[in-house]
Amino acid sequence: MSAPTAPRVLIRTAAAPADKESAIREAAQLLVAAGCIDPAYEGSMLRREGVANTYLGHGVVIPHGMVDDRALVRESGLAVLQVPAGVAWHDGQDAHLVVAIAAQSDTHITILRRLTRLIQDEARLARLRTTQDPAEIAAALSEDAPAPGVAGPAADLPHAFTWTVDYPTGLHARPASAWVEAARGGSARIQVRHGAEVADAKTLIALLQLGLRAGDEVVISAEGEDAPAALARLKATVTGLSAGEKAAAARAAEAVAKAAAPVAGWNLADPCRIVSGIGASPGLAIGPVHVLGPTDVAVPDEPEPLTSGGDRLHAALESTGAQLKALADDTGRRLGQADAGIFKAQAELIADTDLITLACQLMVEGHGVAYAWHQAVERMAGQLSALGNPVLAARAADLRDVGRRVLAQIDPALRSGHALPDAPCILLAPDLAPSDTAGLDPARVLGLATAQGGPTSHTAILARTLGIPSVVAAGANLLALPAGTTAILDGTTGRLYLDPSEGDLAAARHWRDRLRATQEEEARERGLPARTRDGHAVAIGANVNTPDQVPFALSQGAEGVGLMRTEFLFLERGDTPGEDDQYATYRAMLEALEGRPLIVRALDIGGDKQVPHLALPKEENPFLGVRGARLLLRRPDLMEPQLRALYRAAKDCVPAGAPTGKDAPLSIMFPMITSVPEVTALRAACERIRTEIGAPEVPLGIMIEVPAAAIQADALAAHCDFFSIGTNDLTQYALAIDRQNTELAPEADSLHPAVLRLVRMTCEGAARHGRYVGVCGGIAGDPFGAGLLAGLGVHELSMTPRDLPAVKARLRAATLADLEALAIDACAQPDAASVRALDGKAGETAEARS
Ligand code: PEP
Ligand code: MG
Repeated sequence: MSAPTAPRVLIRTAAAPADKESAIREAAQLLVAAGCIDPAYEGSMLRREGVANTYLGHGVVIPHGMVDDRALVRESGLAVLQVPAGVAWHDGQDAHLVVAIAAQSDTHITILRRLTRLIQDEARLARLRTTQDPAEIAAALSEDAPAPGVAGPAADLPHAFTWTVDYPTGLHARPASAWVEAARGGSARIQVRHGAEVADAKTLIALLQLGLRAGDEVVISAEGEDAPAALARLKATVTGLSAGEKAAAARAAEAVAKAAAPVAGWNLADPCRIVSGIGASPGLAIGPVHVLGPTDVAVPDEPEPLTSGGDRLHAALESTGAQLKALADDTGRRLGQADAGIFKAQAELIADTDLITLACQLMVEGHGVAYAWHQAVERMAGQLSALGNPVLAARAADLRDVGRRVLAQIDPALRSGHALPDAPCILLAPDLAPSDTAGLDPARVLGLATAQGGPTSHTAILARTLGIPSVVAAGANLLALPAGTTAILDGTTGRLYLDPSEGDLAAARHWRDRLRATQEEEARERGLPARTRDGHAVAIGANVNTPDQVPFALSQGAEGVGLMRTEFLFLERGDTPGEDDQYATYRAMLEALEGRPLIVRALDIGGDKQVPHLALPKEENPFLGVRGARLLLRRPDLMEPQLRALYRAAKDCVPAGAPTGKDAPLSIMFPMITSVPEVTALRAACERIRTEIGAPEVPLGIMIEVPAAAIQADALAAHCDFFSIGTNDLTQYALAIDRQNTELAPEADSLHPAVLRLVRMTCEGAARHGRYVGVCGGIAGDPFGAGLLAGLGVHELSMTPRDLPAVKARLRAATLADLEALAIDACAQPDAASVRALDGKAGETAEARS
């Protein structure tokens, strides 16, 4: 009997199956006859085709059974059908080598690794398609010879340490990108060896191709001048990530367990068609289905000179990097840092040297830039999927997602996207890219079901964050459903009920209404003003950048928008929006808010928000350079169209007699102010443009983000209508901690007493001139922080929408007197940890008094 790592190889040359299904059955029968599988495994292999595309690339396909049916495999084996004439497989692709896999334990990964190498050797593959010698095919599938560029020498470098992978889900893209970042921090050469496989620690895809799983032992070694220090740095990163990885895996398992737990709430009485998948985001959705077609675009091969092609690829990669950064930033602010990490990891994928090298090789061979890029992405993604590890298969989806973005930058005609119907629907899709999912509007997408994917994919994580009930891995039949079919999607049990009877619809509605009633009870609370028990009201706004995000913010209890970051208009597009485009956005924003207050922040470019297409001079310390208001004052070509667009929106949308002050429907504020002359210059520009347009006056405010502005708040208050404290930047500048420095991130706490004292000074300065003060930095969304800020004298808090309910509840449960006492206490503490320790005590005091 063969050992699991040396599967039996059964070969049939010159096969001519009529179609895909016959090919699978024929290969399965070879395995049955050899005693490798139970006959029932044949059905499992056919089922797998319904949920996954087993086309590996270059005419090689790998049918195999479902994971849950592994018990039907008696002995590892491969059945290879050589089909010289080809058999249609998937999406117009023909299979010439059908490699049916029956694998026990990890045999699968060994076989796939051999196959992925084989498909890089096109000449050999071409021979295998027609050879009449089965031994030639068997030899190709039994060798472990490394493919060029995939594996290096198996010797370790002079400085080394050994580590056993203890990340529960193995080395996936997020930790791997942290390794790459640490390895790139120095000039030493660093490699990671697992058995005979070696990867350069500075390239992400090479690391991922090692397919490291929990329990694997690796040797990480380095050579070069700073090798010992570089290795120590990498070791700290590698081991430092363990705790977080374990916690993330536990959270994912909990989410999946919750999603998989059946609901006791409603039951199906009448038979109807049911499509089963895996529950990925709990909840019930009822509505018509809408099927999204594939987004594949035909990428033409249009050769061009290497120099201009290289430049175009470079520019496209740069602007995609900036787009991803913006997306990570926006997702971080809307949905949280964990979700933002998805896009940070995607940015690492496109920076991968192997990927770029491959694209360049193809261009050198004479292919066009778009074609070369597309091929490189497809090949790399194919290799990642082929490793047989579901986590890496999900990263292949990420690579394709990000690859699409670059393609759209190379040639806007290659932009692929989805159009949604106007009426709310349940969305059905083959799979959805994370960036498409992040952009879904829960008001229009009632539920989501995908043919492929898994409950821990980024798409599922984002759907849960957005609260969209979802089912994944529901099979390809899903996509054949006629548009408009009424369905009930149960994201808890992972089922989609089609054409349900009136009785079942009523039962499902009843259950959904009960869920809704509970949520509405919470929503009623969210809708109440943030008024403390002793009657002090704090205004509550949301940080929202686009009109389509407004309804969700309002549903969470926002009373307006306290911060609209306009740089995203520039970052997302990859070019500078004109005055008319900006006007349309501001107007749509005002309309969405229906008279509620909107504070638009003028462009805050610089620091962490770089815009490549503006080609601004490179600075050594961009956080201390020409950013925010400093840039606006130097670049009237950027500032004036924005102010014109804003005043035109004010003229057209702000009715006569609208409130002024804190409740004004539109206010403008300027970022990164450090001095009075900046404010007077900006005010003068506003006044000139306002008069030219004939627009009404709007409150003009400034952000307090630099200690100088907080200290001089009284002087600044004389020249502006309001302040909004940007605690994210105020903390970085007060504590001298770069807000992007991950190592110092735990110390960059906005509750540091020094920051709180600056907030207090700002409020005191504003009070001297009767100005109101808001806070729109992250700490405003922390319930304890929000209470402290109110106690320090802040009038308005603006935050990411999903933080609103908890903040409102906390403020409503407190008294201003308590919060003021707490604020005095906090400012007197020695450090942030002691301030945070007051949290529990404040609760005790409040309880004792009530
Ligand atoms: C801040 O600095 O707190 C702020 C709200 O601005 P941003 O995060 O956009 O720099
Ligand atoms: Mg800021």
